[in-house]
Amino acid sequence: MTSYVAPAELVEALGILAERRGRVSLLAGGTDLVPRLRQSAGLPDGRDTIVNLKRIEALRGFSIGADGLALGALTTVTTLRRDESIATAVPLFSRTADRFASEQVRNAATIGGNVVNASPAGDLQIPLLVHGARARLASARGARTLAIADVLLGPGKTALAGDEILVGLDVPLLDGYRISFSKFGLRPAMEIAVVSVGVALRLEDGRISDARIALGAVAPTARRSPAAEAVLTGQRPDREVLAAAGEAALGDVSPIDDVRASADYRRHLVRVMTRRTLADACAG
Ligand SMILES: Cc1cc2nc3c(=O)[nH]c(=O)nc-3n(C[C@H](O)[C@H](O)[C@H](O)COP(=O)(O)OP(=O)(O)OC[C@H]3O[C@@H](n4cnc5c(N)ncnc54)[C@H](O)[C@@H]3O)c2cc1C
Repeated sequence: MTSYVAPAELVEALGILAERRGRVSLLAGGTDLVPRLRQSAGLPDGRDTIVNLKRIEALRGFSIGADGLALGALTTVTTLRRDESIATAVPLFSRTADRFASEQVRNAATIGGNVVNASPAGDLQIPLLVHGARARLASARGARTLAIADVLLGPGKTALAGDEILVGLDVPLLDGYRISFSKFGLRPAMEIAVVSVGVALRLEDGRISDARIALGAVAPTARRSPAAEAVLTGQRPDREVLAAAGEAALGDVSPIDDVRASADYRRHLVRVMTRRTLADACAG
């Protein structure tokens, strides 16, 4: 029989995870978990407990300080989209959240769920990767932080241990950077990315002094493109350089054929969208 608990304190949730290690499914907004449970008609094998995180205050809210934006894991896509202080501090979040599902899904979906679900097409991972965010993890054994790139291990796979909860994300600010986000889907709304690209560029004296590019849905995890970033660094952002970055990005992806697109088409999109997203950031 499945049991359901909704603790109000983080320590209580961590205690349950420690005691029932491997038997618990954590629930945040439920927009990934609930459809999955419906498909499988229940919890996966070996699991018998749902722990709803929604009442835990320590996972809520956000703050902006000199160190950056600290987001609670339960921060919803709607908050990322609508909050003006977040839009000013990390505009890539509102650009990404604007293209995320529907109003109804955005109201429930959380950033913590987007990270731990670890879909290669998870939109919110793009700004986190571009900004070099760190994940705050907690278990009854203690706390640790991990770079977001080290959290994402593969489709549906993260570095979280079975008794750990993602408490929040620390997002360094990129003041003065030019940013842009593009997402290609098969429908104008409610689309899962076929390819997504997020960029942040710092320009000094007409040259790119720092380039950050993250790509979604073209590898087992969303990821940065060090090859494209290296092509840009120190260069003037002219057409040839941006096109060369698009070409170089192909070296960092390994797309697959699936119901949404072929691997070849995804490679084409990576080349074109990287160039265009960079051009859009430069024009902004
Ligand atoms: C119609 C529809 C449209 C969608 N469109 C998009 C889209 O455009 N872009 C996109 O990226 N995604 C989309 N999604 C997927 C989903 O909405 C997101 O991945 C969302 O961010 C998941 O968050 P959640 O709070 O609902 O997670 P949940 O479903 O509650 O949880 C997801 C997973 O993360 C785990 N988890 C959640 N929080 C924590 C935590 N704090 N610590 C440890 N583990 C945790 C859960 O145990 C579960 O395994 C869509 C889903 C639906 C149903």
